[in-house]
Amino acid sequence: MSKKLLATSIILATALPAFGAELTVYSARSDELLKPLIARYQEKTGHKINLVTDRNAGSLMEKIKAEGKNTKADILITVDGGNLWQAAQAGLLQPINSSVLKANIPSHLRDPQNRWFGLSVRARTIFYNPTKVKPSELSTYADLANPKWKGKLCLRTSNNVYNQSLVATMIANEGQANAEKTVKGWVANLATKPFANDTALLEAIGAGQCDVGIANTYYFGRLVAKNPNLNVKVFFANQNGKGTHVNVSGAGVVKHSKNVAEAQKFIEWLSSNEAQAIFAGNNYEFVASVHASNAPLVSKWGHFKQDFINVSVAGQHQQKAIMLMKKAGYQ
Ligand code: FE
Repeated sequence: MSKKLLATSIILATALPAFGAELTVYSARSDELLKPLIARYQEKTGHKINLVTDRNAGSLMEKIKAEGKNTKADILITVDGGNLWQAAQAGLLQPINSSVLKANIPSHLRDPQNRWFGLSVRARTIFYNPTKVKPSELSTYADLANPKWKGKLCLRTSNNVYNQSLVATMIANEGQANAEKTVKGWVANLATKPFANDTALLEAIGAGQCDVGIANTYYFGRLVAKNPNLNVKVFFANQNGKGTHVNVSGAGVVKHSKNVAEAQKFIEWLSSNEAQAIFAGNNYEFVASVHASNAPLVSKWGHFKQDFINVSVAGQHQQKAIMLMKKAGYQ
C-alpha cells in the first residue's frame, strides 16, 4: 500500500461511525453483575463487548502484563482501591481526561492521575446483633479494640484486600502506632477465629455467635434481601471523626487498548444515572456518581459521612497494613 493510501485509510478508519465497535473488558467483578450492563450497552450502541472474567484481580493483572502490547483488553474492572492502585502502579492503565467522569465521580473515589474511576461504593463498617448490643454502645473501629468487646468481635481473615484497605486507611488517618494498637485489641477481642468471607461473618452475628463485626455493606444488603428478618443491623463507624471507611469497585482504560475513545465512552456511560442503578443497585452498593440515586434497600440504611481520604491510599499503605496485621497476630 502506498504511503498516501495508507494515510487515507487511517483517516477513514478513525472517521468511521462508532457503530459496531468491539470492546474487551477484563473484569474481577462477578459476571452476573456485569452482564446486564453489557447487554444494555450493546442494545443502546450496537457495540459488541467481550467479557473476560477472573475473580482473582491479581491474576487478571498478571494476564494484562504478560500480554503487553498484544492484549485484547480495553478496560479493566476490579474491586477495591487497593487493586486499582496496584494496576495503575504496574503501568497497566492510562490516564483518561474526561469531563463527564470528573463531573460524576467525586475526587476521593478516583485516581488523582485519572487512571481509574470508582463506579460503585461500599462501606466497610460495623454490624451488630440488636438483641445484644445497643447502637449507643458503638462508635469507632478503634473502639472495637476496647476490652468491653472481649470474646464478642468477629472479623474476616486478614489476607483479604478489604481489611488490608481498612487498616491501610487507619494507618494514613491515625498513624502506624494507633492502628497497631487497634488491630492488636481486635485480635484480643475475637469471639472465634477469623471468617473466610463477610457473609459467614454476618450470619454469625445474626446467630449470636458474636455481638459485633466488620463487613462490607453489600453483603449485608444481599442477606437482608433474602431474609428481611436477619437479626443484624448496620452501624456507620467514625461518624464523629473522619467518617466511615468506603471503598470502590471501578474501571480504567488499559494502557495498550486499541479502542481508547470507545473504552472511555463505555466507562463514562457506567457513571450515568441509568448504568449506576444497575452497576451499584444490583449489588446493594452505593452509587459513586453524585447525580445518581441509591437503590431503595440501600437508601433505608440512611445517610452517613464517608471518609473522604482518597481510596488510592488503600494501595499506598497496603504493604504496611499487611505487615502490621501479621505483627499483631491477626490471621
Ligand atoms: Fe466482595
